[in-house]
Amino acid sequence: MKSRMTFSKTLCLTSVLFASVLLPFGTLAHAQEAATAPTANAVPLRVGFARTDVTPTVGSNIPGGFAKNPSTGVHDPLWVEAAFFSNGTVSLALVGVDLIVIPNDMAQEARKQAEARCGIPASNILIGASHTHNGGPVESSWDGEKDTAYLALAAERIADAIVKASEAAVEARMGCGLGQEGGVGYNRRFRMRDGTIRTHPGKMNPDIVAPAGPIDPDVAVIAAEDMQGKLLGCVVNFALHGTTLGGNQISADWPFYLRQTIRGGVGSDIGVVFLNGACGDVTQVDNLNPRPGEFGEVWARRVGMSVGAVALNVLAKAEFTADAPLAITTETLALPIRDLADSDEELVKREAPGIGLGSNDEVFLKEAALVRAMKAKSPTVNVEVQAMRIGSTGIVGNPAELFCELGLDIKRGSPWKPTMVVELANGHCGYVATSEAYLGGGYEVRTARSSFLAPGTGEQIANTSARLLCQLAEK
Ligand SMILES: [Zn+2]
Repeated sequence: MKSRMTFSKTLCLTSVLFASVLLPFGTLAHAQEAATAPTANAVPLRVGFARTDVTPTVGSNIPGGFAKNPSTGVHDPLWVEAAFFSNGTVSLALVGVDLIVIPNDMAQEARKQAEARCGIPASNILIGASHTHNGGPVESSWDGEKDTAYLALAAERIADAIVKASEAAVEARMGCGLGQEGGVGYNRRFRMRDGTIRTHPGKMNPDIVAPAGPIDPDVAVIAAEDMQGKLLGCVVNFALHGTTLGGNQISADWPFYLRQTIRGGVGSDIGVVFLNGACGDVTQVDNLNPRPGEFGEVWARRVGMSVGAVALNVLAKAEFTADAPLAITTETLALPIRDLADSDEELVKREAPGIGLGSNDEVFLKEAALVRAMKAKSPTVNVEVQAMRIGSTGIVGNPAELFCELGLDIKRGSPWKPTMVVELANGHCGYVATSEAYLGGGYEVRTARSSFLAPGTGEQIANTSARLLCQLAEK
């Protein structure tokens, strides 16, 4: 489809060129008009960017750790950054939010409000969490409590950003590209000498055999410029946990420095939407390197600047075109909650890693009881897989904290370049691992409200994602 469209466009340009050589002046004007007049389906693409502040009040709990963590200040504000695309027939929005997750109800509320206020269909909105571990109180995991007033505020601010982006939309051309940053992310799961898999088993642990999974170095970027060539904004996709800053200051974590780097390079007024990739098992900590200090401000800047510099390089070389079709397709899967064993003892025997992250049995049995209650209410969970096409870029979102290998599988099965795999999109259904990872064990697959889907669901999400991306070629 794409090659045919490019060909017909070339044909149009060639006929105009011919006309300028062969025809008298009056006829040329007519020929140009005929060649460039928009058809019924060729309404020019319009793109807009906007952002809203979603910083919670100081004192609110920062979710993401095993213990309560009341915030004591603001290192940098939290933002909702939205990009809006419309060609008169299809409108889409990509929204990046500085939060650890996007709870299901909050995602639906934000989408509903945006649809009511600016007409974009709720299902055409992708809202991704940056997965910052220094964000607002949206989640009741471990010891933390979600704040319902903050959830309502965040939903409204997400809708505000989408509405503002739609109001800011102007005629635009799209560019895209792919860079690589392979030096800031590391798989945090390791195959151990006893045959098990463990998460963060300790730096230089002599029982480590090898990493149990890959990383994904892709920095995928799409960008829009106005018809005068001014950059309006970009969307950046990279897979890495937001766990670098630590402490108790509110912050977007390393994506703060990513945005600062890009805006520093091309202009403070542009939009920068960050969408996290399949980073379920990817960290900034290199367990095979004895160096200390892979946390704090310096490390967050190192990561954000590195990814931002690659994104800037992609932006510098991007070629822009008005020929950027928009399409979307969505499928909702009813995925099973895992077998929870007959007793706590059996569950501990099956899942307790003994060492590394996730080895506190008391904490996890409290969580397992909550998952049992969840399963008693419903044995399946609805999971939305949403695939979009913007020009030659494919974007596919799902609410899992997806393992990196599954993200790479999706990319291998996608006809689009670049392909952005967006995790924690439009909801939250916990870690989703490869079937092999469930057998090996470790933190991410231990039953808790952060991990409850059955083995096999990861492959289902990956296969559905690749299939939907392929279907977009027909649209
Ligand atoms: Zn995580």
